[in-house]
Amino acid sequence: MSETSAPEKVVIVGGVAGGMSTATRLRRLSESTQITVFERGGEVSFANCGLPYHVGGVIPHRSSLVLQTPGALKNRFNIDVHVRTEVTSIDRESKTVSVRETETGHEYTAAYDVLVLSPGSSPIKPPLPGVEKSYVLWNLDDMDRMMERAETAQSAVVVGGGFIGLEVAENLVHRGMSVTLVEALPQLMPLLDVEMAWLLVERAEVNGVQVRLSEKVDEVTDNGVTLASGDAIDADMVVMAVGAKPNLELARDAGLEIGPAGGIAVDDNHRSSDPHIWAVGDAAEKKRDSGAGMIPLAGLANRHGRYAADAIMGIPTRNTPAHGTSIVGFFGVAAASTGYNERVLREQGRAMRIIHAHPIDHAGYYPDAAQLAMKLIVDPDTDLILGAQVVGDDGVDKRIDVIATAMQAGMTATDLIDLELAYAPQFGSAKDPVNMLGYINDNRVAGQQTLQWHEVADHQAEGWRVLDVRTPFENSRGQIPGAELYELDTIRERLDELRGSKVIVHCRVGQRSHTAASILRQEGIEVKNLDGGYLTWQLGTRATEHLTQEASSR
Ligand code: FAD
Repeated sequence: MSETSAPEKVVIVGGVAGGMSTATRLRRLSESTQITVFERGGEVSFANCGLPYHVGGVIPHRSSLVLQTPGALKNRFNIDVHVRTEVTSIDRESKTVSVRETETGHEYTAAYDVLVLSPGSSPIKPPLPGVEKSYVLWNLDDMDRMMERAETAQSAVVVGGGFIGLEVAENLVHRGMSVTLVEALPQLMPLLDVEMAWLLVERAEVNGVQVRLSEKVDEVTDNGVTLASGDAIDADMVVMAVGAKPNLELARDAGLEIGPAGGIAVDDNHRSSDPHIWAVGDAAEKKRDSGAGMIPLAGLANRHGRYAADAIMGIPTRNTPAHGTSIVGFFGVAAASTGYNERVLREQGRAMRIIHAHPIDHAGYYPDAAQLAMKLIVDPDTDLILGAQVVGDDGVDKRIDVIATAMQAGMTATDLIDLELAYAPQFGSAKDPVNMLGYINDNRVAGQQTLQWHEVADHQAEGWRVLDVRTPFENSRGQIPGAELYELDTIRERLDELRGSKVIVHCRVGQRSHTAASILRQEGIEVKNLDGGYLTWQLGTRATEHLTQEASSR
């Protein structure tokens, strides 16, 4: 790159994650380029991700969320930032944008050699009667409005059980409010599969949050909401957190190509269908392993902003597929995922090998070890990792990040065995939970037959016997209906009782039953091991029973 190839004028629409990342990187690459950022909100470079935590008082000072000011950006980077200034249209012919100052109404045009679009996304407000009475949380103005109402409100309905819904619900509880969480899907956190998401429901209820799954809001009233089921939930305030839509108006009106995933189509250099216009962040499509996708996450917006700046300056860039690695904290439990979940892969008709495990986050003999719920989804033909989910109180971020890194590096599930991960008893185990997934995968590659938690009942109907190889004490604390107790240490003495049967074996997490399955298989008995054991079966069954109970109580 040389200063001579630097564009004279770069205009950037949107002054937060993707926009500011592009702007500051550009300045580091070129002192001569005139960089102008238009931001229709009141602040640039604010921490959207921190908003819920100021609502709950976890981040006590509002000012902590404002990371930069136009003045500071001018001084440090010589970037001209115009806040409360909206770009209203793009004229690709003359390479100008029309701009309107939102407070004064003053309008003018600005010329560009290169235009970067990072207009983000907007919260969806569904077209329901009374929806205008509800609150959203997307920027600092939204946060101020929400906090003003929360000063006197005692109760809230939060509609939507994704990231923002969960974060808002928790933080309103921190403020002492009573909260009901309403979700249209049969689970919280749609990025997870149903059995993995159940722990979030349990954690909500332990903390006094009422969860209403498979419920749609029909109307926002003066007293709360009315549900499609006919129930009314009283609340002093209603928060809509039902997802976001990319801000595409500018791009669409300018005739830029909108891609199959519904975002601004970009090439590997984040360049749109117009060679003078780049697009990054929530509004732009992301390259995925299979086609394009929309992934509204801060890390990708920042990375792609930097790469767009590089590409504008003629520096070769990479565009590695995005996996959507994400995490949410909810009353002490963390839920993280990367890649595709089982539900999406099923919809795509993809073959998959599914592995559940429940290792503890660090050595059991060291205090405060906490159980993790892990799920790994593997392509059975290539052994490549298609996705992973981890839920638990501790060590979740580390495990999902290791798996995400392995995925990005193109490692196979069996390669997880060989990862040499830091270990001392307070941090992990000599066989780290990630290594364990690799070992389990290796057993499966070697031919171990398994079944999933939701396949047990159908197998039983076809005559399969279920053997619980746990101890009598464990069995007395809860069993799979119809399961017969065959404690592992006694199973060799009882083989004659099993000959000629088809059997499912299970223990608590699938490890002892793996040993039982090996014994039975070598005796010529047809056997399948219940993947993830009783714990996974229990999570999945509770999740589905909860729904049945809710439906019958309506
Ligand atoms: P933004 O950062 O939203 O910036 C877009 C800006 O463009 C906006 O400020 C908007 O006002 C401005 N704009 C739009 N149109 C125009 C126009 N015509 N003219 C001028 N300006 C315009 N992601 C994570 O990875 N982890 C998290 O924990 C996380 N938590 C979040 C919590 C909340 C409450 C929210 C709202 C988002 C969270 N995100 C999180 C998502 C993350 O913030 C976004 O993915 C990221 O900010 C997207 O960057 P962007 O540049 O595309 O859009």
